[in-house]
Amino acid sequence: MARIVMKFGGTSMAGIERIRSVAARVKREAESGNQVAVVVSAMAGETDRLVGFCREASALYDPREYDVVVASGEQVTSGLLAIALQAAGVPARSWLGSQVAIRTDAAHAKARIRTVDAHAIEAGWAAGEVAVIPGFQGVTEDGGGRVTTLGRGGSDTSAVAVAAALGADRCDIYTDVDGVYTTDPRIVPRARKLARVTYEEMLELASVGAKVLQTRSVGLAMKERVRVQVLSSFTGPDAPMAGDLPGTLIVSEEELGDVERQLITGIAHDKNEAKITLTRVPDKPGAVAAIFAPLADAGINVDMIIQNVAHQSGGSTDVTFTVPQSDLPRSLDALTQAQDAIGYDELLHDTRVAKVSVVGVGMRSHAGVASTMFTTLGQRGINVQAISTSEIKVSVLIDEDETELAVRVLHTAYGLDAG
Ligand code: ADP
Ligand code: ASP
Ligand code: MG
Repeated sequence: MARIVMKFGGTSMAGIERIRSVAARVKREAESGNQVAVVVSAMAGETDRLVGFCREASALYDPREYDVVVASGEQVTSGLLAIALQAAGVPARSWLGSQVAIRTDAAHAKARIRTVDAHAIEAGWAAGEVAVIPGFQGVTEDGGGRVTTLGRGGSDTSAVAVAAALGADRCDIYTDVDGVYTTDPRIVPRARKLARVTYEEMLELASVGAKVLQTRSVGLAMKERVRVQVLSSFTGPDAPMAGDLPGTLIVSEEELGDVERQLITGIAHDKNEAKITLTRVPDKPGAVAAIFAPLADAGINVDMIIQNVAHQSGGSTDVTFTVPQSDLPRSLDALTQAQDAIGYDELLHDTRVAKVSVVGVGMRSHAGVASTMFTTLGQRGINVQAISTSEIKVSVLIDEDETELAVRVLHTAYGLDAG
């Protein structure tokens, strides 16, 4: 008897008809003799709606209360799926994050899972029940057992954490595409589906915007060696069983072997960054620390950073960096309060930017990847505002309106288009 975790995303849970079809798929998996735990997202659009309410109530909302609000979407779908399963003749019950229990740190709105106690799920299994768990939510380990959420897209991480705690044979991530592609197939219809991708490449792709899996879910799967498969929930009742691996399997480098290894794995984009520029920052030791310390204190992650050449007169320089758009109001607030300590002139920001990244482990041994990127973008008149690199990635910041064009021309330039 295999232990299987099945995770269904927002579009798969959007409405009672779709929840019924999810129930049918879960039933098929349970009736083929597997022990099944299901992790669900809120209905598509619901979390955005709830986030919108919080922002409307106050731009500088209390993240603890934000979590109380946004975690509710998954509570609804977990109960509805349990009802649909029962109606289909499958014994089932829901387990909230606090009941499982999925314990996290207290970094509200982007909490990290510390422990998952899988005993409740196993007890449910012993009673013949499928367990349904709301993704995205947890409860603080200390600090009063408050509700937390794991950052946008966090249900993937809930699923992997539950799979690790249960020692599951597989964690199947059901979504609205049938696997991981060389780039977002909604932008490039000629993107190619990857039968297998390494943890490392998937981690990098996810971290630069390939939202098909949340970054933390991939890191956790890599650490805990959870076998993750991405596959479509939008297939008919005759579709191959998930055990036949019809989607994309995330594998280790050794498992991938040399034949499938590519120079470039894929291209990702991220429109959720915001660019901040501080003008005329004093060009002296400690100035940069004065900028980033208040942001770190506010729990804000800074991504790309560029410091311009010092102005000729006056010994000052402009500093530009990016933060997640959701953290922009908080960042501007922290920097405004620190203006005297930093000593900058103007605080500018721009949300009409996008980050486009090229990822591939082959970059380690091949020169010229960055040069191809800049040449290709230059030929199309796309201006690069900032650059960052890692061992297996090159990212550029460009005008948001040029995102789709940039992804498409780069996909062709690296020879990724399907035949
Ligand atoms: P879910 O609600 O199921 O969690 P998401 O919207 O979070 O689904 O993730 C699935 C989406 O990820 C797809 O609809 C697709 O547009 C997008 N996506 C981005 N990059 C990729 C990629 N490289 N491969 C597949 N899908 C991708
Ligand atoms: N509902 C949450 C979100 O939209 C979590 C998830 O779907 O993974 O971000
Ligand atoms: Mg998702």
